[in-house]
Parts: sequence; structure tokens; C-alpha cells
Amino acid sequence: MCGIVAVSGNPEAAQLAYLGLYSLQHRGQEAAGIASFDTATGESHRVRRAGLVSEALQPSHIAELPGDVAVAHIRYSTAGGAGLKNAQPIRETFRAGQLALVHNGNLTNANLLREKLLNEGSLFQSSIDSEVIVHLIARSRATTADEQIMDALSQLEGAYCVLITMDDVLYAARDPYGYRPMVIGALPTGGLVVASETCALDIVHARYVRDVEPGELIRIRGGEIEQVRRLPRFVAEPQPCVFELVYFARPDTRLWGYTVDRARRAFGRKLAEEEPAPGDIVISVPDSANSAAVGYSERSGIPFELGLIRNHYVGRTFITPGQAGRDFKVRMKFSPVREVLEGKRVVVVDDSLVRGTTSRSLVHMLREAGAREVHFRLASPPVRWPCFYGIDMPTREELIASNRSVEEIREYLGVESLGYLSPEGMIDCVRDGGETYCTACFTGDYRAPLVDAQEGLAMSSHC
Ligand code: SF4
Repeated sequence: MCGIVAVSGNPEAAQLAYLGLYSLQHRGQEAAGIASFDTATGESHRVRRAGLVSEALQPSHIAELPGDVAVAHIRYSTAGGAGLKNAQPIRETFRAGQLALVHNGNLTNANLLREKLLNEGSLFQSSIDSEVIVHLIARSRATTADEQIMDALSQLEGAYCVLITMDDVLYAARDPYGYRPMVIGALPTGGLVVASETCALDIVHARYVRDVEPGELIRIRGGEIEQVRRLPRFVAEPQPCVFELVYFARPDTRLWGYTVDRARRAFGRKLAEEEPAPGDIVISVPDSANSAAVGYSERSGIPFELGLIRNHYVGRTFITPGQAGRDFKVRMKFSPVREVLEGKRVVVVDDSLVRGTTSRSLVHMLREAGAREVHFRLASPPVRWPCFYGIDMPTREELIASNRSVEEIREYLGVESLGYLSPEGMIDCVRDGGETYCTACFTGDYRAPLVDAQEGLAMSSHC
């Protein structure tokens, strides 16, 4: 998880990057940061602060970031990886100039590389895998910045989208598998913006130009693409993350050639074909399942209703251990609409089922609100495997579908029926052009080697 943005060739680079972060807030809520470079003065600046973008970055902070180049990051909180020292951009002074780096994704050989670098004398300031990239660039024996970056990236395994500034030059790179998304847009006031999702282009009125393709390293200067190079490790079948479409990306984003909302509706329609349910109403678990529930309703003919309302203002809340066991967390996030639910056979559509604890509490809440029957439908297949490519997921043991049958999960949730979208059905919905996807969390088919795990090292968990 995490979101990244960069701007090149615009005098309001930091302000534009800030707006981009705003629209990527769903990709991370723990910390936000921006680094800028001013071509006129040769000065660089950085601000990193904890919290949501609106809390973390105030107008006074943006005023401290003059320049025509900026990179920005929002961080998702992962277990054991919290703290401002792990926030980005990372910024260092190099022989080639001032470097700032932001990263989205998860390297699968980060700990092996880190051990090697530590043995060679590198000093690390954080526990994130992204810092490994900075050290690899710094220690490269290549003579130009281009080659140093190429040298570093060619040693990485796993998932990465990185944006790096070396003084006034911006580099954008995406791993050869293309796990995480990155797009380029043209700003109406001049210059280019590069971001995790197209919603970050829309907010600054940028025109979509193109995706950064898997395995590309693009050099941008003064708002112009100067050079496009291929990273060495060619992969015949790219593996963009299908879970971005299922759950993570914003519905208005255009991703892998599909508007996320349209893809989710297609998942919902397919789900209705594969797993029909005897319901009076269809409701969604808001907000991520809204589109899929609309699709399910369209195809099944069962009316869509707003049976659950999501509270968007929860934030971090203290719950006592006693309350934690009694659905309080879920009650703070969702409220049932009794008038909609009472006496009804309710088809609940959710995007995915991970641990199952939230869904179980939700079902309990729906019954208390008068639902006569609850039929649970998931607009993705059972999540049986953890993600090592940048989506924060619990361990295999904690994934409810890793060791229980559908019938056992149905019993655990306490519902009349339970149905999942099939892996084939999911992919059918989003392969108009014959696209290939990563489906490892559903199938266990990990394509990028899990090097750290093979070496007996812990897998790093970044974002
Ligand atoms: S394992 Fe799942 S969440 Fe991770 S990249 Fe693959 S599809 Fe996406």
C-alpha cells in the first residue's frame, strides 16, 4: 500500500504534489511527506509528518517547499513498521547531488540486500525496504546518475514503483512485473505529474498521457520525458495486482485499462451469475463494495438498498480490551439502517474476506437490526495466501480461508448462505485485451521470487 506522486517542470510543484496526495489518501493514513528541489537556487527541502494529509501538511509546510520539482508519499501503517523515521521521502546528499526517493510496493529480497549492505558498512536509519534502494544507488560504481539508478534497480526483486529526484531530474521506475500502478499526466499549467493512480491526475486537472510500463525507467527533466529505458529483467507476462481492482484503488481511478468502478460492477454481475441468492434486497459493505453490490443488483434484479452507513470520521480510537470483543470496532465504523433491513432477506455484498472477524460482527449487527436472513457474497475468490508484493495482509494462519472450507466459514459468519466469485470469473471480467494479473493471494502462484523467504529471512513488510 502507500501512494506516491511527483511533479516536474512546474513552479508550484509541492502544492500540486500535495493535492495529489489528498486524492491518494485511501492508499495510506499514517504519514505524509513531500521533498522539493528548486532548480533556480539549487536548494532542496523536505517535510514529513505523521497523520492524514489534511492534518500532517499545513499551508505553512507547503510554503517551506519552494521549487519546480517535487516527490511526495503517503504511508500506510504496517505492523512493526510505524514511526516517522520510516516515513518518506527519503532524502540524502550524494556525489551526484541531492537525492529524494519515494517507493510503493514491497521488495522480496530487501533483507538479503540489507544484510549484504550492512556487512559492507552501510548504516541504515530506518527499517523500511526502500532505504535499501538508496544505499544501492549510493554504493554503485557506475559513473552517471542514470547508470547508478539502473544498477540499483537491476538488483531488486519484488514489487516497486519508485520516484527519485536527483537535483532537477526526476526518475520514474516500475518493476518488470508491474505489480503496482503508476501513470503520467500533463499539467495544464506546464510540466508533468507522475502518480500511483489517475485520481491524482484528475485533482490537478492533468491530462492522462500514459502508464509507466512494467520494467521502464523514465528520465524526466523540466517537465519533459528525456529518455525511456528498459530494466534488464524482462518478464513475458506482467503481473499487475488484481486486488487493486477488487479493493484497493479508488473507484474513479482508471487502472490496467479499466475504470475501477466498472471492473467492480462486472465482478458483482459475474458473482450474481455464479452465486445467486434468495434475497429481498442487496446491500453493500460500504464503501469498497458499493460498485460490486450495484453490479450484483443489476444482474440479479434484486433492488439495491443502503442498509449500512459508514462513518468516515472514526480515525484512531481507543477501545478498551473488554469492548474490543463485543463488536465495538465495527459499530463505530458501520451503522445499520433498521427501516431498510427489518424483516428482509438481505444479500450482503463485500469485496473480499480476509480474517472474517469484521464480517462476523457485521452479520451480528444486521440480525440485531431485524434482518430475517443474511446471504453473504464476496466479489473476489477466497483469500488464502498473504501478499508479499505491497498489500498489507495478515499471516497465512490468520486468513480465514487458508484453513477453513466455505461451509466452515459460513458457519463462522453465522449466515444462511455464503458465495465467492471464482478466480476464473474474476479474471474473465478484466481481460478484454488478454491481460495477465497477479492472483497470488487467491491462488498461491507467486511469480516474483520470494528471495528472503527462500534464504530463511523474514519477508519485509513495507507498503
Ligand atoms: S498477492 Fe494479491 S494483493 Fe498481492 S500483488 Fe498479488 S493480487 Fe495483489
